[in-house]
Amino acid sequence: MFKINDNYLKLPGSYLFSTIAKKVSAYSQANPDKEIIRLGIGDVTLPLSPVVIDTLHGAVDEMGKAETFRGYAPDLGYDFLRNAIADYDYKRLGADISADEIFVSDGAKSDSGNIGDIFSVDNKIAVCDPVYPVYVDTNAMAGRTGEYLVDQQKWSNVIYMPCTAETNFAPELPKETPDIIYLCFPNNPTGSTITKDELQRWVDYANKVGAVIIYDAAYEAYISEENVPHTIYECEGARTCAIELRSFSKNAGFTGVRLGFTVIPKDLKSGDVSLHSLWARRHGTKFNGAPYIIQRAGAAIYTEEGQKQTKQQIAYYMKNAKTILEGLKSAGYTVSGGVNAPYIWLKTPDKMTSWEFFDYLLENANVVGTPGSGFGPSGEGYFRLTAFGSYENTVRALERIKAL
Ligand SMILES: *Cc1c(COP(=O)(O)O)cnc(C)c1O
Repeated sequence: MFKINDNYLKLPGSYLFSTIAKKVSAYSQANPDKEIIRLGIGDVTLPLSPVVIDTLHGAVDEMGKAETFRGYAPDLGYDFLRNAIADYDYKRLGADISADEIFVSDGAKSDSGNIGDIFSVDNKIAVCDPVYPVYVDTNAMAGRTGEYLVDQQKWSNVIYMPCTAETNFAPELPKETPDIIYLCFPNNPTGSTITKDELQRWVDYANKVGAVIIYDAAYEAYISEENVPHTIYECEGARTCAIELRSFSKNAGFTGVRLGFTVIPKDLKSGDVSLHSLWARRHGTKFNGAPYIIQRAGAAIYTEEGQKQTKQQIAYYMKNAKTILEGLKSAGYTVSGGVNAPYIWLKTPDKMTSWEFFDYLLENANVVGTPGSGFGPSGEGYFRLTAFGSYENTVRALERIKAL
């Protein structure tokens, strides 16, 4: 008889965002006259930029002509896109990454889950706490995280690295040695970053203990401060210990279009086996590719006009971030993030739990945010607001919060 993967049965009941959706819909049904403003979910809202739309139209037309029709995309991505990425995202910054170390995919979420396929179930993972829930959830599905301890809201076999006000929202090197270290900077949900020197310490540590770092740089385009690294490969020695995940979702609005990539340098090895060759095999077989049309649109981001339009979108969101940051400060909240990331992280007032504050904000200001505890146990007592709303709604939401 067939058997299921019973690791799935260990997962805690409901995904964070479905719980939020249920609560919001119950509230609106009971209060149909109230207008709710959503500053919660981590999705972009601006339409795709003109350069992307033009490129999409052009690529669709190519698919309609025999001479320019394309079938299956190359397993690892089209060269025109991989070359553009290598030049703009790496070589330009002095990072030693070549086009054939870039694997194009349908997004960083898929890759951050799928990458586990090339690692043994015996590896012990370390994660920032709080962080994007996908790393822990997908490792739980793979059977790598032990048992879920409901009272602690933790998995028994995961090394949690608390990122709280006490640590300036950055992780400290763990006491217990991990095999796989997930780092996400700029961080979702805290909006925090680490400096290049701090990241170098992680690279040195990983090389020393023989760990691999999976570095999620989905928010790289939001970095505004000088000493914050845009890629882990700015650090010396990263080629032998780091995988990087990137996405077109948050910089260019591709959340509904789907495009991302993963970098695996050829020097990254376990014994004498190169992870690059394993991922190439996996990527080729399971076909994690993005369509030609979408890869063309992605390449358009790297043109001069594409960069200009992308920067305009980011500037729009970061104006919202500033509005939230300053509004919360003037209302007396303790806040961080919002400078190199579209996320603002606040400490809940009056020792409210994250979910108590969620209800309080929904009922009294009709504003929806995200409870920090949903991103890990150290997120308890914190709350995330995002800059992805419209400017008008962001201003109105902050007026409501200030009036509480
Ligand atoms: C949104 C997000 C992603 C998802 O990227 P996709 O390319 O849309 O799958 C990955 N990592 C983090 C930290 C994110 O917040």
